[in-house]
Amino acid sequence: MTSTSPIRTDTVVIGAGPVGLYQAFQLALHELGVHVVDGLAHAGGQCAELYPHKPIYDLPGIPACTGQELTQRLLRQLAPLRVPLHLGQIVTALQRLTRDDAAGSPRFRLQTDGGLVFLCDAVVVAAGVGAFLPRKVPVPGLEAWEGRQIHYRDVGPEVWAGRRVVIMGGTDAAATLALRLADGGAADVTLLHRSDRFAIDATLDAELQSAIGAGWVRLCLGQPVAAIAADDGRLEALEIATADDQRLLLPLDVLLPRLGLSPQLGPIADWGLALERKHLVVEVEGFRTSEPGIHAVGDINTYPGKRKLIVCGFHEATLAAFAIAQALRPAERIVLEYTTTSARLQRLLGVGPD
Ligand SMILES: Cc1cc2nc3c(=O)[nH]c(=O)nc-3n(C[C@H](O)[C@H](O)[C@H](O)COP(=O)(O)OP(=O)(O)OC[C@H]3O[C@@H](n4cnc5c(N)ncnc54)[C@H](O)[C@@H]3O)c2cc1C
Repeated sequence: MTSTSPIRTDTVVIGAGPVGLYQAFQLALHELGVHVVDGLAHAGGQCAELYPHKPIYDLPGIPACTGQELTQRLLRQLAPLRVPLHLGQIVTALQRLTRDDAAGSPRFRLQTDGGLVFLCDAVVVAAGVGAFLPRKVPVPGLEAWEGRQIHYRDVGPEVWAGRRVVIMGGTDAAATLALRLADGGAADVTLLHRSDRFAIDATLDAELQSAIGAGWVRLCLGQPVAAIAADDGRLEALEIATADDQRLLLPLDVLLPRLGLSPQLGPIADWGLALERKHLVVEVEGFRTSEPGIHAVGDINTYPGKRKLIVCGFHEATLAAFAIAQALRPAERIVLEYTTTSARLQRLLGVGPD
């Protein structure tokens, strides 16, 4: 989703990992407006990206639950509160606005790489180990064609239909894309990988091997070492070093690298917040960072005794929500209410009388 008009809200949560999702739940229970932004195309952070099918055994009251199941449960718990999730959007800029005296003027402006702008009064950074960014092709100078002929994120048929496409990588994403494009109108699909073995799902591997056997997908074994530009400046080919140390030219119109994702702190390091070994330093009453109005919860923060566990992140999110609610409603006393007994909370959750 892209938009040019800013989204005005009370709070923005950066990160839709388990802690970011629970943070949104807690903020919404305080009836604060909240939007969640994540660079991945799906919610769940590390649970969904790194261990979707592995069981977690130390969540209170849940003897065993996979990373994917936990994500689904958190999303289901959040659903009645109708919190908008903006996925596939990396927050690249966070800026403090000069507060004028006009009531309702926002304190922060956030911008994403997809063109979304948020104006808000408090920010919670729940960015875990950082934004999962696509691994880049290690060929010098290749970045000059990014966004024109080289695309690290999903693109529509206008980019590849009728063209010679090279997909690079041995990942599930690379294999799935090769099959989809071979079936969907690319002139020519080549899968470039350093070996003929793919560490991918067995069914997908079987489909890929049969597409290669039928000639729908061409397999090129080797590593790119140089980019070859045409006279008009277009990327014309990649020079490939093969396993037996030969060199060959692989002509192409479009390169779609799918080499996997790696977490990087990225823009968060540039926001002027106090850091200790790439973690945001917080206090433990409201998980405030060095910058008033910006809080940090979950794996991204550090404080004496910090443990990178989901349950610790849930505790931090709960206290951060109380601190934010109090700061945004200074005239009110924010009191503790139980979901078991509070009619207000039950109404919000859609389980009590209207
Ligand atoms: C293999 C493995 C097993 C684990 N097992 C357990 C276990 O059994 N029990 C347990 O308690 N913990 C376990 N953990 C740790 C647990 O997964 C983490 O503590 C938890 O995921 C932290 O949640 P989080 O929401 O803080 O961060 P993450 O899960 O890392 O989510 C952060 C999200 O922020 C997004 N993001 C970052 N920067 C930006 C940005 N600039 N813009 C937009 N989005 C951004 C990322 O894309 C990501 O989705 C395990 C971890 C691993 C790797």
